Amino acid sequence: MKFTPEKYSIEDRPMQPFIDSDEIWHFINNTTSSKERVRDVIAKSLAKNRLNLEETAVLVNANDPELIEEIKEGARVLKEKIYGNRIVLFAPLYVGNKCINNCQYCGYKVTNKRVKRSTLDDLQLVQEVEALEENGQKRLILVYGEHPDYSPEYIAHTVRIVYGVKKGHGEIRRVNINAAPLDIEGFRIVKEAGIGTYQVFQETYHPETYKFYHPSGPKSNFEYRLTSLDRAQEAGLDDVGIGALFGLYDWRYEVLGLVRHTNHFEACYNVGPHTISFPRLQLASVLNISEKYLVSDKDFTKLVAILRLAVPYTGLILTAREPADIRREVMSFGISQIDGGTKIEIGSYTKSDYIQDIDKEQFQISDTRSLNEIIDELLDQNYLPSFCTACYRLGRTGEHFMEFSVPGFIKRFCSPNAILTLAEYLIDYAPESTKEKGWEVIEKNIQQLEDYKKGSTDELRNRIEKIKEGVRDLYF
Ligand code: SF4
Ligand code: SF4
Repeated sequence: MKFTPEKYSIEDRPMQPFIDSDEIWHFINNTTSSKERVRDVIAKSLAKNRLNLEETAVLVNANDPELIEEIKEGARVLKEKIYGNRIVLFAPLYVGNKCINNCQYCGYKVTNKRVKRSTLDDLQLVQEVEALEENGQKRLILVYGEHPDYSPEYIAHTVRIVYGVKKGHGEIRRVNINAAPLDIEGFRIVKEAGIGTYQVFQETYHPETYKFYHPSGPKSNFEYRLTSLDRAQEAGLDDVGIGALFGLYDWRYEVLGLVRHTNHFEACYNVGPHTISFPRLQLASVLNISEKYLVSDKDFTKLVAILRLAVPYTGLILTAREPADIRREVMSFGISQIDGGTKIEIGSYTKSDYIQDIDKEQFQISDTRSLNEIIDELLDQNYLPSFCTACYRLGRTGEHFMEFSVPGFIKRFCSPNAILTLAEYLIDYAPESTKEKGWEVIEKNIQQLEDYKKGSTDELRNRIEKIKEGVRDLYF
């Protein structure tokens, strides 16, 4: 059959799944981790090369505490080289929790009769976004269950509403999506609405485990989900996020699964996923899981460091599922994006008396601090909180984005943009104590940029002055 893009559908040319469990287990079971080998692999990563499955298995199998420390230290150095000290902030916004799937670990599964189902109407959506903007948020991820009501047209409609909400100096500049896999036409429809990243998490890359946890509903189809982001690529949506839910199956296997998925993208599309997420299982309403594979803090921190080294150019996201102390630890050696001020009950950003209730939420979150509390802590620890959305808006995504992932990129773009967006936040939303700290951090970072290249911060200072005069949304 002749391929014509308009007529093309997944039924015409099914995409090949690329996960082979035997291959993954072969690497885990047959790779040894001598000191020399572990150090070689870390060195390869520090030269900014992504790792293959065998090399990732070398790190996964390293159990000597001294070597694990070296892996974490390597991740720290790599993170500093590629991402600098910025941490990009975002918030999730749950639009609707109707769902026809039956994921055993999720409070929103179709069989859970205790959960109250609802979808924000257009007005409620506007009000939620206004509340988020009043807190200083600029980047959202919209989350939807899988349900006929949440069609690509509906998702696109909600994205357009979100972009249209302006409250004071507030606006949402990047809308990412976490929703069901779509067909190629569906991905085209949501792309046209101007979305940033489209996330589809595989949850587990192990087919039998996948079957156990997804007994019914469209999500029970392992391969359709696995190839979903290939369809996104076919639709021209090259900014995608992958993820696994740690605790369903052996964490070592899932790490290799994520690396395999990343390498598949690089081989087929010349660009990896934009982000990787690695949530750990949390308490949820009417949970039905085995505890065999729950991941300890010790293994979790190790796996984050391994992922950082394995896929140097892919952003790593850590969410409020994790408690503050774990977030603090792994931020130093792996994470480039976190959420802040997170509430995941439908309609909760507009509630002044909100308290978590797992019968109303998808799962329990552990870090319930406000956005400002998180920013405060980031500033105390010398991070540069960022709301930057520049690359996506200038078309620096996908393959094109990879071209920019070169030395000097952070200093030319990420740090100055982080400074500009932090300056906006401080002026528009921060309490006095945060303002004081924030301007000190800004000054320190400008000095570092100036030390790196004399004269390079003139335009940056110029733009900060404009922000002080009331101009907004300036970026490099
Ligand atoms: Fe539905 Fe997603 Fe929950 Fe599965 S994880 S039941 S698809 S909301
Ligand atoms: Fe991300 Fe690009 Fe902004 Fe850097 S400049 S923080 S890569 S959007």
